[in-house]
Amino acid sequence: MGPYCNFCNQRCFTYFPQETPDYILRAYGTSTIIATCQGGQRFEKQRVGYCYDDILAVSFKHTVLPADSTPTPSPSERADNADRQAESEYSHSDGAHAPDDYDG
Ligand SMILES: [Zn+2]
Repeated sequence: MGPYCNFCNQRCFTYFPQETPDYILRAYGTSTIIATCQGGQRFEKQRVGYCYDDILAVSFKHTVLPADSTPTPSPSERADNADRQAESEYSHSDGAHAPDDYDG
């Protein structure tokens, strides 16, 4: 369910991605959905100043920072993470041999 887009005549709308920055959400006001087709995006870009592509571009920048602005994680922190992962994997496979299943 949802409105049909005036540009592609389909329900091309999608919810704002979780990564959508606040200032873009505010620019869209009460809208909770956003057009993903070419025409719809061009229209919103003219009306609101942003479009779906812009949000994707900004979200992408959010997660993938340029190398020189990325904080380097300390080696000890990394080792700790790897350790915890291995541990949880181990306890998971260990759970498969629960004694409850043994019947005799
Ligand atoms: Zn559309």
